[in-house]
Amino acid sequence: MQNCLFCQIINKQTSADIVYEDDGFIAFKDIHPKAPFHLLIVPKKHIDSVNHLEQKDKDLMGGLILTAQKIAKKNNLTGYKLLINVGREGGQIIDHLHMHLLAGRVIEKSEVMEKL
Ligand code: AMP
Ligand code: ZN
Repeated sequence: MQNCLFCQIINKQTSADIVYEDDGFIAFKDIHPKAPFHLLIVPKKHIDSVNHLEQKDKDLMGGLILTAQKIAKKNNLTGYKLLINVGREGGQIIDHLHMHLLAGRVIEKSEVMEKL
């Protein structure tokens, strides 16, 4: 998707602080971190949001969570939060499916809901 910021990051047309990459996923630092450790984990396949997932994306979603687990282990994180915003009312501003990996201090659920 040409006008998609995260596709541009995946295609290296826009720079980002990339901390992990494999065939299916890329992870980079959130430009406006809401916690001391705040990454975005992004499938390379463009899917607008959770609302746009299909049955065939089951493995991709499993892979997304396992990628988060892998990155957490690499960074010695024992506790963290995984968050997916869905749709504008759900706080989603970038229309390319992604998961937030947050850690480093206790973030209250309500606080995350307000800030993301
Ligand atoms: P969401 O609200 O779930 O769509 O999250 C989008 C996230 O992308 C926000 O937390 C933004 O701070 C972050 N973001 C926006 N632009 C960039 C960028 N160029 N590089 C890294 N993170 C970004
Ligand atoms: Zn995209």
